[in-house]
Amino acid sequence: MTAIAVLGSTNMDLVAYVPKAPRLGETVTGRAFRTAPGGKGANQAVAAARCGAEVVMIGAVGADDFGVRLRSALAASGVVTAALRTVEGPSGTAHITVDDEGANSIIVVPGANASVTGLEAGDDRRIGAAGALLLQLELPLEAVLAGALAARAHGVRTVLTPAPAPEAPPGGGWGTLPAGLLAATDLLVPNEHEAAALTGLTDPHRAAAALLEDVPEVVVTLGAAGSLYAARGQEPLTVPAPQVRAVDTTAAGDTFVGALAVALGEGRPMRDALAWASCAAALSVQRRGAQDSMPSRAEVDAFAADRGTGR
Ligand code: ADP
Repeated sequence: MTAIAVLGSTNMDLVAYVPKAPRLGETVTGRAFRTAPGGKGANQAVAAARCGAEVVMIGAVGADDFGVRLRSALAASGVVTAALRTVEGPSGTAHITVDDEGANSIIVVPGANASVTGLEAGDDRRIGAAGALLLQLELPLEAVLAGALAARAHGVRTVLTPAPAPEAPPGGGWGTLPAGLLAATDLLVPNEHEAAALTGLTDPHRAAAALLEDVPEVVVTLGAAGSLYAARGQEPLTVPAPQVRAVDTTAAGDTFVGALAVALGEGRPMRDALAWASCAAALSVQRRGAQDSMPSRAEVDAFAADRGTGR
């Protein structure tokens, strides 16, 4: 079984549905409210576990009710939570407002995630035992860098989702990302907005080519248009997304990354791995929610088989 480590965030999403988002100083009455486990790290961990990998999550939750729920949601999907610390104070939360048009605004309060400033005892061993380490930018960057360096030292593939996009200087560029982080990244997976923010180039093909100066392999996800793969010294590949009726694209990218890591860990060639990950993401956008919408291995295999894209 493919082993994957995730060093990343866990957040409780607090979602208010409103006819129209409030302006500054305004109070509006919402239609509904729900809480759902999220955070890019936890989302990728759940996606990979549902896709059949053995996943260990490294991170932190707070000593509150949300922390208990976040941990049990991971465990319910089969993610190993022994390296998920419980720290004093609140868990990470994402305060999300969704209006009747489906547009949202989000405040993320890192909470316990901010306490993860480096690796702890046992983390290096856990990373070394994995086939890949999945990283995002919702933890303090020094921790992300420490994880990437540990993976590198063990020859473990590092997959970095550069989200949320770091604030780029005018004209693009890597902004506040530590230089060593890119040097320790094997596969970078931005969406097209992040690719543009990082390079200042809105054409994803040109952005991918520019990113290859920093990392050896890039996948740019293009929403309903699929994904684009570029590697040094190779012709770029584009893989279309299955045409489906999307009802909620929350965590489509995280589902895609988790599934891609599993497929690559199983030794599939990049084109097959991208097609399979696209099937997983296409299933997730047809259902509401983040982790709730993520498909099982059997569902992805059945959908892929129907489309003739492999197991
Ligand atoms: P993010 O969720 O990070 O913004 P994208 O919107 O690029 O990233 O979506 C990630 C992947 O999810 C895409 O590459 C695609 O495979 C899949 N996806 C997203 N939206 C759709 C859609 N409407 N139909 C089918 N697949 C989709």
